[in-house]
Parts: sequence; C-alpha cells; structure tokens
Amino acid sequence: MSNNFYLYNTLTRTKELFKPINPDRVGIYVCGPTVYGDAHLGHARPGVTYDVLFRLFKHLGYKVRYVRNITDVGHLENDADEGEDKIAKKARLEQLEPMEVAQFYTLRYHDAMRKLNTLPPSIEPHASGHIIEQIEVVKKIFDAGYAYESNGSVYFDVQKYNQDHKYGVLSGRSIEDQISNTRELDGQSDKHSPLDFALWKKASAEHIMRWPSPWSDGFPGWHLECSAMSEKYLGKEFDIHGGGMDLMFPHHECEIAQNTASRGTSGVHYWMHNNMITIEGKKMGKSYGNFITLDELFSGSHPKLQQAYSPMTVRFFILQAHYRSPLDFSNESLQAAEKGLKRLMQAAKDQLNLPVQESAPAVAEIATIKSHIYEALLDDLNTPIAVSELFNLVTIVNKIKDKAVEINADDKATINALFEDIVKGVLGLEDDRAEGSSEDMINGLVQMVIDARVAAKANKDWATSDKIRDALKAIGIQIKDTKDGAEWSYIE
Ligand code: ZN
Repeated sequence: MSNNFYLYNTLTRTKELFKPINPDRVGIYVCGPTVYGDAHLGHARPGVTYDVLFRLFKHLGYKVRYVRNITDVGHLENDADEGEDKIAKKARLEQLEPMEVAQFYTLRYHDAMRKLNTLPPSIEPHASGHIIEQIEVVKKIFDAGYAYESNGSVYFDVQKYNQDHKYGVLSGRSIEDQISNTRELDGQSDKHSPLDFALWKKASAEHIMRWPSPWSDGFPGWHLECSAMSEKYLGKEFDIHGGGMDLMFPHHECEIAQNTASRGTSGVHYWMHNNMITIEGKKMGKSYGNFITLDELFSGSHPKLQQAYSPMTVRFFILQAHYRSPLDFSNESLQAAEKGLKRLMQAAKDQLNLPVQESAPAVAEIATIKSHIYEALLDDLNTPIAVSELFNLVTIVNKIKDKAVEINADDKATINALFEDIVKGVLGLEDDRAEGSSEDMINGLVQMVIDARVAAKANKDWATSDKIRDALKAIGIQIKDTKDGAEWSYIE
C-alpha cells in the first residue's frame, strides 16, 4: 500500500502530493484561539481536523512538530486595526488582569479540547511571550522598506509591497478590488492607505497590555505573532499552515506578506483551511441566538439543544463531513451521529472476541475495506468516506459474530488493526461512556471487593479478609466495619 498523501493546497487551489521539507519530519502550524471567551463549536472543528492530520502523520511514521498558538494580545475588536483589545475589554468588564482572562480561558479551552480527545500540540506558544521576536520581525520589514511609522505606530505598506510581490495570492483578491471595497480613511487614521495593516500599535494611556519598542510603548498587530512564532519553532519555511477559512483574509494573507517582506520567502508550502460550522443553516453568532459553547453542548444547557451531546458524538459528527465542506449542526444530525457512534463502538468491543476458524479462506471484502479506508484518509483527509467504509466493516463484524461469516486469524488481526489504528488511533474515537461513569465504576468495584470481604469474614476465612483489607489500604482505601457490613473511604 502506498503512503502517498495528497493534500488540497488552498494557495494553488489544487490537490498536491505532499512532500515534506525534511523526509521524516513534518512541521504544522495552526492558528489557535484568542482566549477571551469559552470555546464554542467554531473551535471544535479546527481542533478535531488538525488533530486527525497530526494523528495520521504519526500513524504514517513521521515525526511531527505541531505548533498551535494562543492569542492573548493584539487581537482587536472586529479583527480590525482600531478598537479595544478583545482580552483587555473582557478584563475591564470583569475587573480582572488581562492575563487572568487569558489564563482562565486557555485552561477552559484545554479542557474542551481534552474532552474532544484531541492530542495537545507539541508546542503552544503565547503571543505575549514572544514580543521580542515580533519586534524583530517588524525591524526586518522596516529594513526591507515595506513598513512606515506614523505617530508611534508601525504599518505594513501594502501598495509598496504589491509593486514587488503580489498581495492577495491566497484569497485571490486583487488589490484593485480591495481598494474599491474598502472605506476611505476618515482623516483620523495614522495609516496611509486603508489596505495597510498594523504591525505595531502605540498604546493609548488607558491600554494596559503594553511593551516598550523602538517606536512606542505599545503592542503588536494581531497578524504578526503567527509570522514570528512559526519561524521561531518551525523555521523560515515549513510544511503546513492550517486554520479556519475565515482566517484566510486578512490574517493569513498578511502573514504571507510579512513573511515575504521579513525573510524573503512566503514560508509555507501547503495552506490548509477548514470550512465553517453553521447551525440550522445559519451562521453562528451572538446576535442570532445560536451561539453554542462546547460546555453547553456537552451538558445540553442551551435553548436550541434537545439534549446533551457527548464530546465523542461531537467529534464523530465533525468527522462525518469533509473538512473543506460546510457542516451544519442540528439536533437531528447530532442524534444520528450519536446512534452511528454507538454502533461503531459496540463493534469495536465485539471485534475483540470474534471466533476464528483456522481453515477459513481470507475474506476479500476485509482487505478491500482496509485499502479504501487508507485511500480515503490519504486523499486530502477524506474522513466521511473512511467512516462509511468503517460501517461496512461493522456489518462484517456483526455477520462474523452471528456466525454467518467465518474468518481466519489473519483477517481477525486486520479487523483489530483497523479499529486500533484507524478508529482509535487516527480518528481518535473512543467509547466516552467509560469516562463519564468512571467514578461510578470505581464505587461499584470497591463495593464488590468489600462484599467479598464481608462474605469471607462470614465464612471465618480471616486470611482472605485480611488480604483484601491490606490490598485496599495499599491503594489508599480504608475499610471500617459496621454492624451491617462495611464502609469505605479514601485514606486522607
Ligand atoms: Zn494566526
């Protein structure tokens, strides 16, 4: 089987054979969250999509350095160059330090991503921890002649850049279109042109998050951190840059311009963008009343939700669509995903105990399903096809269980590997009922052991009774005998 991976490159708008810069190592940079609010559905999709990419490369035997940043400074309201910093605004409203806001929502984000069974990235750099690196990039852009200073702020000169390079290569927007679609500057702005974007902003007197720089006490522009941190951790050129489609313009377009201006190369070999999530056909937004956080989804506490949906149901639901297709959330589609996942997880358990007939001939369909699954995943991460092939596998597992089909040990090993390597390994699907009930499970198990000790004592089997007491003590559980039996508690 060939391990050739084809990836749709948003920059060239074609599916290309993936060739890493370093033959055995892959570098991935993904734009992470701006940490000023709870993680929501819009975070789940890139979280899961790039996690599957990360897992697939690892499964194919690559070493992977997966960098996903945390934006904790410089992301202004409406993604614009004016207005309040999103984190500083939240801090002002809640009377907290901006870094308290960033820390709080970073932890909440990690928690949501862990529940979705995404692996943590290899490096998670924070924008506020890389101010020096960002100032260095601004200096280089200055030296190259594509930046100007205006009242202590520094802007990228888009038209100057466009004379030497092309601005708009990723989004396909020509500079002429951009000019005609942009409002005139109102005379108050420090910018020479409305197309220019901030590299460094001078902080106003009330702005808390500020750092010294050669130009002013201020803070970096939002786009700058990804140029600085991707270069620092992945090099001047790296393999894959991912993010949501909404980041393509201006964020990623600006990154390309900054990279080219500061280090002479656009830096990224493959641009990858996941499509957006809609809710009952509508864009998700606070003003539509359909803004659902992941916590609300997992607990069912949102008026739009008929029930709670487990994190694994949400993960499975996301994987049932191709990452470049839009994905529409509705109660019906989530309930269907819940049913499908249950069927898949039942088969994952059943396949462990399938009967084997040494004399049974190989079942051709099993090998076919395996190759279809790999073809699908290697074809631009086509998870919906891989999932539908897995359901063909579920059908076979059920037939073997019902003794309608016989398999030999090799076929059983193939089935087992598909569940281990693909379902659990690459797609990251696990039975999350176990996690939700782990406390109940511990309580049940301890009670069972204690009942066994009570029975041993009733039989005057002191040796067994003492053995159980000592074994429980060794794992931190103490038993207190009562007249009805025994109680237990953790040893303080
Ligand atoms: Zn970014």
